[in-house]
Amino acid sequence: MKRSGKIVATIGPSSNSLEAIEKLFLCGVNVFRLNFSHGSHEGHNFVYNAIRNIGKKLNICPTILADLQGPKLRVGIFENDKIILEKGDIFRLDLDPTPGNTRRVNLPHPEILQALTVGTTLLLDDGKLRFEVTSANEAFAEVKVKVGGCLSNRKGVNVPQVMLPIPALTEKDKRDLDFALNLGVDWIALSFVQRVEDVEQTKQIIKDRAKVMSKIEKPLAVSAIEPIAQISDGIMVARGDLGVEMNPEEIPCIQRLIINTCHRLGKPVVVATQMLESMIDSPSPTRAEVSDIANAVYSGADATMLSAESASGKYPFEAVEMMDKIIRTTEKDPSCIRRIEEDTQLPHQTVLDAKCMSAKEMAKFAPAACIVMFTDSFESISRCSRLRPCCPIILVTSSKQLAYSAGMLNGVYSKISKKEFNIDKICSSAIAIAKDLGFASIGENIVVINDIDDNSVHCLKI
Ligand code: PEP
Repeated sequence: MKRSGKIVATIGPSSNSLEAIEKLFLCGVNVFRLNFSHGSHEGHNFVYNAIRNIGKKLNICPTILADLQGPKLRVGIFENDKIILEKGDIFRLDLDPTPGNTRRVNLPHPEILQALTVGTTLLLDDGKLRFEVTSANEAFAEVKVKVGGCLSNRKGVNVPQVMLPIPALTEKDKRDLDFALNLGVDWIALSFVQRVEDVEQTKQIIKDRAKVMSKIEKPLAVSAIEPIAQISDGIMVARGDLGVEMNPEEIPCIQRLIINTCHRLGKPVVVATQMLESMIDSPSPTRAEVSDIANAVYSGADATMLSAESASGKYPFEAVEMMDKIIRTTEKDPSCIRRIEEDTQLPHQTVLDAKCMSAKEMAKFAPAACIVMFTDSFESISRCSRLRPCCPIILVTSSKQLAYSAGMLNGVYSKISKKEFNIDKICSSAIAIAKDLGFASIGENIVVINDIDDNSVHCLKI
């Protein structure tokens, strides 16, 4: 049986050749992530074309996610590349671009200085250093070091709890977004979303050229998760930066809250970062990492993501194979489906949900090897996926864009095919596609949802 939980793999130096990309497909990657915090447009162009061409060769519709860097704040550089700060030291962040020393460094973000007030906490280098603002004005902020350590060139700065007066897209993001949309990526991931308006503004630029995934990595976005998830097409639990801005012990509860919210709203949700972190350097994972992935599956995530593991680690293929095995094994546990069903709210009282619910029930009791849904609507296929039927769903659509973007959804595998209106043709085509893709064989049942014209649901024996 096909796995329902999807695997997102980030492409980087360990995986950006033609051979490596084909191997990632064969190991089970469903969604390829182009990380615009790294790499050149030329490099992303090569990877994009490789993914599409290999997908065609293997008869698989791959999903491509372009992840924009977003307004990541960084300090400038130091005279000697780094300094050591001790607890209690007084330090200054200012607008002067000259290299810093043990008394000061450049913070090239005037709008951030304006937003700081006495008592604000600043976290540097992924939270390793902690400063408290003692005075602030438009030119500089004076801080007291609460947790000291080594601070080196261009380290990141996080300002938790403060709504920063910065736009969702930097000038670099706008250039990257334009480039990614021209390539034809399926999803855009938006980093450091703070408010609903950030998503709205980006959607106005994107129009319907790609789906928008909001990365939840700030406490303010967690507080606004309901409206942000409503307006977004999908959500990523970006535990890397979220774990810097919030206490680590809060992250599991927040992950569950976000997954449950997305489930209720029918939005796909990706759990990201450090899922197999130890496999960057080691061929086998820690027991805790295995449990982390299994728990994401138990709570009903649509996808789990590899970052450095597949982008720059020593074992990119082993990491994908391991994730594949963990998801499959967890999904075989009967309590997995039960738990997800308990967490999923009831269907909406609409014809669409009624059709999907009856297909799910038919598939359970027939039982069926797969559900085949004929639709050109993202809303329809995501409502069906939301119900987490017991078997995979084949999406048959005439829309290339839908076929590619739906790969993010739990359980959904796509087939591009010309539109059929006649129900006999739809049923014969469903049987041929299910057999051809290896989802069902002679003697097995399949369930067909016709979302094209007559709203019918059928159960057929091959
Ligand atoms: C994260 O912070 O968890 C994340 C996915 O973002 P990035 O890898 O771009 O920092």
